[in-house]
Amino acid sequence: MDIVYSERYQVDIGAHVFQMGKYAAVRDGLVSRGLADAAALIEPDPAAWEDLALVHTAEFLDKTRRGGFRASELALLELPWSPSVAEGFRLMAGGTIAAARRAVQAGAQRSPAAAGPPGAGPALAASANLGGGFHHAFPSHGEGFCLYNDVAVAIRVLQRDGLIARAAVVDADVHQGNGTAFIFDGDPSVFTFSIHQEHNYPHVKPRGSLDVGLPDGTGDREYLRALEDALPAVMASRPDVVIYVAGADPYVEDQLGGLCLTYEGLRGRDHLVLSSARAAGVPVVIVFAGGYARRVEDTAAIHAATIEEAIRLGA
Ligand SMILES: [Zn+2]
Repeated sequence: MDIVYSERYQVDIGAHVFQMGKYAAVRDGLVSRGLADAAALIEPDPAAWEDLALVHTAEFLDKTRRGGFRASELALLELPWSPSVAEGFRLMAGGTIAAARRAVQAGAQRSPAAAGPPGAGPALAASANLGGGFHHAFPSHGEGFCLYNDVAVAIRVLQRDGLIARAAVVDADVHQGNGTAFIFDGDPSVFTFSIHQEHNYPHVKPRGSLDVGLPDGTGDREYLRALEDALPAVMASRPDVVIYVAGADPYVEDQLGGLCLTYEGLRGRDHLVLSSARAAGVPVVIVFAGGYARRVEDTAAIHAATIEEAIRLGA
């Protein structure tokens, strides 16, 4: 499986609940367990400004580039602005674009129905960016630790380049994917699905194609049932690619989440999403989004398990 990563994803945002050290921790965990080859990791280029402009307004991009955000805008973003912070996020957006191109390529090579493991049907076509998933970013503003909506930018790049017509977003971060839902509102070519904790940020939730808002304290069994019920509608939208926003923050020990998933529940979640895409013959792009466990090791282990599950399914 192609894995995109850069050491430069980790930028200095000061003491913050968003521990950017998780990216390197995931990489190290994957390499030390033989799940990724350090020499084969793909170093991305920063997203081109013209690519970012497929989603974001010129005025916003100018501010991300040169500064000039008002205090109220930075309060909404919940990140400090500096040229290096902005470049780190632009690089991660480039990483999601690179991973998306490679997932579509892998899908083309495997279809129709290239053989996977015996009895398991076709192998999963997938790639991953060990970062990204900034689903709270809107066209004209950033919020909730999200500067550029790399998920939306990658979809628009693939569409512009004629690599896909349709896409689906499976957003399983504990927080609703408000920016993504807003961006694709009224666009029948992109199906946006979010399964999240209802009573949590963002307090205003623009409607996506399918939103499943779960009660506080939802555990593994109820979560997996709700996810399993929803996934057929996602695949019925006949996407050419699925972007899986695999937030680690539904975890029971998360500081910003109020769901109660265990490691096993999160692994079950990954399995449901990835195996349903595999069964539908749709390539998947994995991005990380949130994860704020008290121990950064837990967040990293949850993200690494998503990659491991994709590899187990043949990616
Ligand atoms: Zn989140």
